[in-house]
Amino acid sequence: MSDLIPKTQLSDSKDCPAASHQPVRQKIMTREAQIGDGLTIRRALPHRDRRMIGAWCFLDHFGPLNLKTAGLNIAPHPHMGLQTFTWTLHGEILHRDSLGSKQVIKPGQVNLMNAGKGISHSEESLPDSILHGVQLWIALPDQIRFMAPEFTHYPNVPHIQHEGLLIHILAGDFLGQHSPSKVYSPLVGVELDAQHDTETVLPLTPGFEYGVLPLIGEIEIEGETVDLKTLLYLGCGRKQLPIQMKKGAKVLMIGGEPFQEEILIWWNFVARTETELIAAVDAWNDHTRFGEVKDYQGHRLTAPKMSLHK
Ligand code: MN
Repeated sequence: MSDLIPKTQLSDSKDCPAASHQPVRQKIMTREAQIGDGLTIRRALPHRDRRMIGAWCFLDHFGPLNLKTAGLNIAPHPHMGLQTFTWTLHGEILHRDSLGSKQVIKPGQVNLMNAGKGISHSEESLPDSILHGVQLWIALPDQIRFMAPEFTHYPNVPHIQHEGLLIHILAGDFLGQHSPSKVYSPLVGVELDAQHDTETVLPLTPGFEYGVLPLIGEIEIEGETVDLKTLLYLGCGRKQLPIQMKKGAKVLMIGGEPFQEEILIWWNFVARTETELIAAVDAWNDHTRFGEVKDYQGHRLTAPKMSLHK
């Protein structure tokens, strides 16, 4: 996914409250953003009140979108310093990148692109009536953020039945299951699907901070209702989480060890300094880095010029 240019803002993790080492309940209101050909999605991260949860530094919830009126078409654009993590509930997306990858993702699968020092990609919906999913970014730790880019498609991930929930383990470990998704810092991502009305307790890792975002329906946590427009941040220090869900509800839960490095996000780049970001903008616009997405029908996106932050 990619921001449209006019709303691009520098996101600096230093400007945001640090990870809470105590359990908290902080409601983060998602906001509408435009992607691709002007499709409206809900962006949960980054947010001025919460830049990251573990290394997860970006979270878009798209759909359900009716593709009969508009398709998803995100022209070639670059990334660096992050992994893009795509998971769908409905519909299909064609990914192409500058490594020559061409891969359709379907529900139950993961597309994980490690941008490393630089890559470019496009994303297009395939004909289907409804598209629904999430895309997240995972910040890469400093020691490996200049690694060679790579793209991996996971045709399935583990799932487990737990007290009325079907749980998909998208990344990390949960309830004894291990996701194959290759990540570079301690983190977890799961989707919980309520098979019937249920009230259960999920085991958590006290050293991780967590957040939950409903994808379908509402959930209740510690007596508090969380709706589709809200990412509930839970802080660290919890061994377990009581959760109530109605049949058919689906929720994304992400977590991880608080990321120890301050990061800067500009447009589609994650970096540590503004100098790096300015160089990346110029390199993309000058076609000197990030490669090209072959066979894409149409123009690539142009990176917005960066104005200095302070
Ligand atoms: Mn992208």
